[in-house]
Amino acid sequence: MPATLTANDPKLAAIEEKVHAGERLTFDEGVFLDEQVDVLELGRLANVVRERKHGNVAFYNTNVHLNPTNVCVYRCTFCAFRSDLKAEKAYTVSDDQIRERVLEAKGAGATEIHVVGGLHHQKPFDWYVNVVRVIKETYPEIHVKAWTPVEIHWFSFIAKQPIRWVLERMIEAGLGSMPGGGAEIFDEEVRSQICEHKADTDVWFDVHRTAHELGLRTNATMLYGHVEEAKHRIDHLCRLRELQDETQGFQTFIPLAFHPENTGLDHLPKPTGHMDLRMVALSRLMLDSFDHVKAYWIMLGEPIAQIALGFGADDIDGTVVHELIYHDAGAKTPEGLTVAQLHRLIEEAGREPVERDTLYRRVVREEGDQAKWRVEV
Ligand code: SF4
Repeated sequence: MPATLTANDPKLAAIEEKVHAGERLTFDEGVFLDEQVDVLELGRLANVVRERKHGNVAFYNTNVHLNPTNVCVYRCTFCAFRSDLKAEKAYTVSDDQIRERVLEAKGAGATEIHVVGGLHHQKPFDWYVNVVRVIKETYPEIHVKAWTPVEIHWFSFIAKQPIRWVLERMIEAGLGSMPGGGAEIFDEEVRSQICEHKADTDVWFDVHRTAHELGLRTNATMLYGHVEEAKHRIDHLCRLRELQDETQGFQTFIPLAFHPENTGLDHLPKPTGHMDLRMVALSRLMLDSFDHVKAYWIMLGEPIAQIALGFGADDIDGTVVHELIYHDAGAKTPEGLTVAQLHRLIEEAGREPVERDTLYRRVVREEGDQAKWRVEV
């Protein structure tokens, strides 16, 4: 049934009062919003929260991606990126290739490198630590945002050491923060349908909790638009805000649209722009204790990401460059955008672009030289 309720509905009016008063919405209210309320109403309410937190500012960063290997022991049904070791598309980067990517990032003035990949069963733990070390040796100023809890859990397995030990070794090598991937949908039944074998929900939270205890800031995601229902999405958001209440360690939430092409779920339709905007707005409304909600343009496409800046999102991600994971799953967006293109997207949406580093400090660039930058503290 289409969700069409508008502000005339008394239950929605009561929720609107809570939103204006800055009060937390309940699980039931979240399911009601998800199942029954019109997308423009959701956007209007989410924008109240977004502007209360960030005014007219929309953040972006200058970043690059590195996916060290696509070889992976797991076979998540939604994944088009992974490869078997002997398959033609299998690859593993060398130290020289890492240096090449990092020098390219340095030349472009990137402040962050985002590193995630497959779980290569023939690589020891030291190989993964070395990826971080080589990056930092090549460009010490860059912030390394690396490894999902699924990877950290795998490293713990292959190193036969606790999660905390793994994170400490990575921090010594130069890890600066962690991305939010691997969350998918926390509901155990849904999870068993889409990623039966990889790190479960408890592990995902345990890794983030430990990372927060060690002083790392982390992000969180939710993969929507496959086999899940409204109650699973809202449960996912409620579980996230529980850990945030405990640690305050999350920075940004990124709703991720499922891309079916080349996956084990390619019989499912791709989520529409309508659903994408609903998820951005719902995330902003439910995650009251998260500072940032990101419209990840790689997944949403530039037009929807741009509109999402009025539906609760305050961040549009970055220049990216060399994105593989969602392009293997059929994403039609470019693999990267220039800073000028990001500015245009943001300004046309009526927002003020602000370049941030990974920790949301403002980045100041030397006039005429993109490669020279510093952060305002
Ligand atoms: S989502 Fe990650 S863990 Fe799952 S198959 Fe793909 S690369 Fe492997």
